[in-house]
Amino acid sequence: MKEYREMTSQELTALREELRQEYSEIQARGLSLNMARGKPDAEQLALSDAMWTIADASTPMVGEDGMDYRNYGLLFGTREARRLMGEIMGVSRENVIVGGSSSLTMMYDTLMRGMVFGMLHSPKPWYECPDRKFLCLVPGYDRHFAITQDLGFELVTVPLTESGPDMDLVEELVKDPSVKGIWCVPKYSNPSGITYSDETVRRLAAMETAAPDFTIMWDNAYGIHHLYPDAPDELADIFALAQEYGHEDRVIAFASTSKVTYPGAGIAALAASKANLDHIAAHMTHQTIGADKINMLRHVLFLQDLPHVKEHMAKHAALLRPKFELVLRMFEEQLREPGVARWTNPRGGYFITCQVPEGCAKKVVQLCAEAGVILTDAGATHPYKKDPQDSAIRIAPSYPPIGELEEAMKVFCLCVRLAAVEKLLG
Ligand code: PLP
Repeated sequence: MKEYREMTSQELTALREELRQEYSEIQARGLSLNMARGKPDAEQLALSDAMWTIADASTPMVGEDGMDYRNYGLLFGTREARRLMGEIMGVSRENVIVGGSSSLTMMYDTLMRGMVFGMLHSPKPWYECPDRKFLCLVPGYDRHFAITQDLGFELVTVPLTESGPDMDLVEELVKDPSVKGIWCVPKYSNPSGITYSDETVRRLAAMETAAPDFTIMWDNAYGIHHLYPDAPDELADIFALAQEYGHEDRVIAFASTSKVTYPGAGIAALAASKANLDHIAAHMTHQTIGADKINMLRHVLFLQDLPHVKEHMAKHAALLRPKFELVLRMFEEQLREPGVARWTNPRGGYFITCQVPEGCAKKVVQLCAEAGVILTDAGATHPYKKDPQDSAIRIAPSYPPIGELEEAMKVFCLCVRLAAVEKLLG
């Protein structure tokens, strides 16, 4: 097979007819497959079903803090849950707040506190900075972008390279005092799957920023979500590095057990310097008396400690790996030779980014939808849902059973080839 761009227009026209025929046949099958969001599948969820029976009325209800789990109290969560999340996040228990069940809520609350009261080192609350800006890495996570857009920040796009954010550009942009922060998914990033290099993490920790309240939103959502647990990606310790440069208040890290136990019913945590925790506590104490300690108890009994968490995550990996490998194999077989796409090769996380020819992403998503396969919207990987190249598509292999995933990817590969041929024919 030749690369499509080397074909004559006659060859391309013939190919277009062939692909259109194939597409009509698929359309006639009336498929209904949804691959829009990165959710665990039912088998993955079942891995945590022991949590339903792990605690009952006979379980000791007073923990290390001497507090009754069934009653009000413990603004920062139970000592045991803080220790567990600290182990998962690579920080000590004293630096952790275990909140409710969603890290995204904790991120929203963090930025909202910055808006209303200011961050620890803010000269004034962010709402008083009308030209406030936030750095958004692309491709990136749509819900991050949406939070800062909702709070009135201008979203400034920074390319995500194979080693993390384009740091030359970041270091330039942070000379502007209205740039208040950056969103980072440093390990197995959503959606490209890349992990930041040590050098990138060091530069983020070290850089001088014009804004004294510049905040790194370190969303380590996939920190322990390896596809190859025996050879995981390693991420440098940003807190240790930030401390080295006297910038430890700059970083606020987040994680949750959404994709460890149950999305929406896990435990979520924030990690930060002691000074930041004091600042947060001063406001948080008016927001809540404390999160769900019974859920923390269930999680601690079930997950226990880091070695047990790793064993549990290896079970997730065993279910996820064949799905990722299937998608990558199909891309290799169906898209490599025609030269119509590039894709990432993640070693963890929940997503693959597929770059189709410029100007084709929306078309591919639409063609897929019309053939019964729903993908994440084209553009979702970029601020304001606008991908200037109209090229990036987020692939989420986790949720459909493998047979359906194969069907969906057949449709996807066909639609990429069809859109590419149509583009070349003009
Ligand atoms: N952060 C990233 C990067 C995610 O991909 C997701 C979910 O897909 C979340 C946060 C949501 O986390 P939570 O369920 O803890 O709110």
